Amino acid sequence: MENCLFCKIAEGTIPSKKVYEDEQVLAFYDINEQAPVHVLLIPKKHIESVMEVEREDDALICHLVHVAQKLALQLGLSENGFRLVLNTGAYGGQTVMHMHIHILGGRYMSWPPG
Ligand code: AMP
Ligand code: ZN
Repeated sequence: MENCLFCKIAEGTIPSKKVYEDEQVLAFYDINEQAPVHVLLIPKKHIESVMEVEREDDALICHLVHVAQKLALQLGLSENGFRLVLNTGAYGGQTVMHMHIHILGGRYMSWPPG
């Protein structure tokens, strides 16, 4: 999608510090890290948010979860735990309207979130 920051990162027209890439998804370090490990995992397909996920995306969403699991292992987060965050819409704090999963780890995450 034109003028979408994360589509441009997925296409490679805007650079990112890549952690993982395959045909369907891309993971890269967040530019403004909120934890010792802060990675964003996105589908390459432009899906605005969780609210735009369709049944035809089932395999893609499942793949995202499996890649998140693989990255948690690869980044050394699996033993102590980590947090996956899917900010959605204005109250959810979503600022980039291309669905992304924050993978946060390397420190204790408090609850409830701010
Ligand atoms: P959200 O607020 O959930 O929409 O998250 C958007 C995230 O994208 C924020 O954590 C930003 O720090 C991050 N971000 C914005 N621009 C870039 C970029 N060019 N490269 C990496 N991360 C970015
Ligand atoms: Zn996009």
